[in-house]
Amino acid sequence: MILQKYTWKDLSDERKEALLDRSETDIRNAMEKVAPIIEDVRTRGDAALKEYTLKFDGADLAGMPVRVSDAEFDRAEASLDGKVKEALEYAIENVRRFHMSQKPKGIEMVEIRPGILAGEASRPIESAGLYVPRGRGSFPSMLYMLAVPAVIAGVEHIAIVTPPGPDGTVDPACLYAARLCGVSNVYRGGGAQAIAALAYGTESIPPCQKVVGPGSMYVTAAKRLLAQIIDPGLPAGPSESIVVADETADPELVCADLFIEAEHGSDSSALLITDSSRLADEVSAYAEEYLLRIPEERRGYIRDVFSGYGGIILVDDMQQAIEVVNLFAPEHLQLQTASPLDLVAKIRNAGEILLGSKVPFSVANYAVGANAVLPTGGKAKTWSAVSVRDFIHYSSVVQVGDGAYKELAEHTTALADYEGFFTHAEALRIRQKRSNG
Ligand code: NAD
Repeated sequence: MILQKYTWKDLSDERKEALLDRSETDIRNAMEKVAPIIEDVRTRGDAALKEYTLKFDGADLAGMPVRVSDAEFDRAEASLDGKVKEALEYAIENVRRFHMSQKPKGIEMVEIRPGILAGEASRPIESAGLYVPRGRGSFPSMLYMLAVPAVIAGVEHIAIVTPPGPDGTVDPACLYAARLCGVSNVYRGGGAQAIAALAYGTESIPPCQKVVGPGSMYVTAAKRLLAQIIDPGLPAGPSESIVVADETADPELVCADLFIEAEHGSDSSALLITDSSRLADEVSAYAEEYLLRIPEERRGYIRDVFSGYGGIILVDDMQQAIEVVNLFAPEHLQLQTASPLDLVAKIRNAGEILLGSKVPFSVANYAVGANAVLPTGGKAKTWSAVSVRDFIHYSSVVQVGDGAYKELAEHTTALADYEGFFTHAEALRIRQKRSNG
């Protein structure tokens, strides 16, 4: 049986914890491996980046520029199938429409009291590095999920890094997507070496203030190690999903959707949570025949996921299902229940919540418009999906009129004296003396 079944109430606390665990521990191990790579890129720049690209991606970049040329962009566009181009144009437009609503509307001031105005001035961050993975498949979808909000925010310097294929070229759909998004700086490089290049800069790659993007454990580990130098953005590691389904769900669709995130790699996780043992049995039976139709490499990943971080959890009722979801805090959550909307208010922790069977993870990953770069490893308890806000920072702006100053200064002086901050209070007393004449 590919899908193991577990009854939540019969599990020991230890088993529950193990079931809710995912590949976080691997990331801790990867940190040891990537520390010397980072140091090497810091000291030797492009030369080290190229060496690691040969070692890990099998691409010999000797004599090739790290930055992708305009001619390579043109060749990529010319080589791409018309259907793929159209699909990219459709998806990018949806993502753009969604993210436009997140664009801040200039300075908005609030009147705290008559004469006291306070607000926030928003500004794009100056430079951002976007990591587009390409270990176990290329990800033009991730490129536009990152580039669209960065462009809408108005980031001036955007640098995209992505591992090249074995011949050294960058995935053509990624280049076409970058062009559609309006980003022309694309660099060859993946894994920890690319993150280090974005953090320290190399001869070809300019240093960036923030690095955003999902990736393998090596990418996640490098971002953690470099967090003193760059803002590493949201933790977006190996994909994970939960499908919550009740007896009204279609077992074939539930199974199909359960397998979606599992095909990303052996380190993904995928759980079905249901209160229906009939549905669990039907999904499990269907999974056996469905698995045989899946191409070999992806089938291998799916097998690994369901022998590690995946399976079916049987719960007493939907209340218990939600409790498990909130404990796990999944990156992706889909509700295939009679009234999915009724459950939304009870869900505290999930990167995204997809309502019903017409929103499988695939449409959300590619084309619905909402961002598909999401927090993993339980980080959805405090983090959110990538958005325009990731590329914006805010300065508080305050103005005080004459009429409001006196009262404000009196209360401030009392608090500063209490805290023992002499100069805080004195600055106000000097003003007071002056106004007394
Ligand atoms: P990747 O580009 O992240 O990783 C490949 C790179 O890892 C290679 O370029 C190489 O440099 C490095 N690498 C490989 N083996 C190494 C080793 N032994 N030592 C050091 N470095 C090594 O691509 P990927 O592998 O496909 O991973 C993408 C990940 O992103 C998947 O886990 C997927 O689930 C996840 N993902 C997450 C989200 C999200 O929103 N959270 C979205 C999409 C994908």
